[in-house]
Amino acid sequence: MSQPSPEVYERGKGMDAHNQVMREIRSRKDRTYDPHEPTRVWLDEDNTPDGVKQSLTIILNTGGCRWARAGGCTMCGYVAESVEGGSVAHEALMDQIQVCLDHEAENADDPADLIKIYTSGSFLDEREVDAETRAAIAETFGDRERIVVESLPDFVEREKLEDFTSQGLETDVAIGLETATDRVRHDCVNKYFDFADFEDACAEAGAVDAGVKAYLLMKPPFLSESEALEDMKSSIRRCAGVDHCHTISMNPTNVQRYTMVDELYFNGGYRPPWLWSVADVLESTADVDAIVVSDPVGHGSDRGPHNCGECDDLVQKAIKDFDLRQDPSVFSQVSCECEGAWEVVLEEETSYSMPLAR
Ligand code: SF4
Ligand SMILES: [Zn+2]
Repeated sequence: MSQPSPEVYERGKGMDAHNQVMREIRSRKDRTYDPHEPTRVWLDEDNTPDGVKQSLTIILNTGGCRWARAGGCTMCGYVAESVEGGSVAHEALMDQIQVCLDHEAENADDPADLIKIYTSGSFLDEREVDAETRAAIAETFGDRERIVVESLPDFVEREKLEDFTSQGLETDVAIGLETATDRVRHDCVNKYFDFADFEDACAEAGAVDAGVKAYLLMKPPFLSESEALEDMKSSIRRCAGVDHCHTISMNPTNVQRYTMVDELYFNGGYRPPWLWSVADVLESTADVDAIVVSDPVGHGSDRGPHNCGECDDLVQKAIKDFDLRQDPSVFSQVSCECEGAWEVVLEEETSYSMPLAR
C-alpha cells in the first residue's frame, strides 16, 4: 500500500490553505501530558457481530497523529491531547496499558470481552506504536474475545493484524473514513485519503479474517444540515456494501477546541447537527447489512449535537437504545415541538455556513 506522507498529500491538492490555518490554531495549545498515563479509559457495552459485549475502551497517549501535526482534519482536536514532541517509548505505553487494567480491575466485576484501543492517530502506524509494543499489547489482551484498534487505512497491513488474530482474537480495525464522498472528505474534513483506500484496507483486513468498523462524521463544516444528512445516508449505504466492513459508527460533529470547526462556530458559521438528523439517518438506514451505531458526544450542549434543549436526553436515549437493539421503532416513540424547526432548517439552510438556529 502507499506510504503516507502529509507533505506529499498536501502538495498541489488544495489542502495547503486548510493546513496552514490549522497549524496556526493548534499552535495555541499549551498543555502537556504525562506519557505514562492514558488519555482516557472507560468501561461500557458495545454492539458487535457476536452480540452486545462489555467493553474496555482505551485512548492511548502516543506521539499523536502525524497528519494532525501537518495541520490535520478540520474537526479534530485530539492533537491537543497528545504528548509534546513526538513519540512515546515502549515502557511508557505499557505503563499506560497497566493503568487501564488497574482501572478495569477496580471498576468491573469481570474482565471485558471487548477491548477497544484508540490512539488519537493510528495504532498501526509504527511511528506511534512500534512492532514490539503492538505484539506485547496483543499478548496482554490475548485472553479476551475481540479487539478493535484504530488506524488510518494506509497502515492496515495483514502482518500487523496477525499479531492479534494469531492470539485467537476477533480483530477489527476502526477507520475514520468520515464520509464515502471523496470531495467532502477532502474539502470539508481535510482528510487526505480516498474511498478506494478504505476499500483496499477492508480487503487487507479481510485477508486475515479481520473486520472493519467505519467511523463516519455527521455534518462536517461547510455542509448544510440537509446536505450532511443526505451525505451520511449514502455513506452508510456505500460502506455497508464493502466486504468485511461489518459495523458503521456515525459520530455527530462536536466542536472541539483548537480546530477549524471551533473557529467557524465561534464566528457563527457552524452549528453541530440536530439529534433529529442523527435519528433520521439511523431510522432510514436500518435495513442495511451492517451494524449501524452512534454515540453522540456532548449531546444537548451548544458545542455538541443538539435539538431544543427539552428533548435532547430523550432522543439520545432512543439513539443508545437503537445502538444495542438495531430496532428503528424506538424513534417513533420520541417527538417534540422542535421537529418543526428542524424540518424548516432542512429546507431552508444553505451551505454558505449560515446556520438558521443555534
Ligand atoms: S481525525 Fe484522525 S487523521 Fe484527522 S487529524 Fe485527527 S487523529 Fe489525525
Ligand atoms: Zn425538542
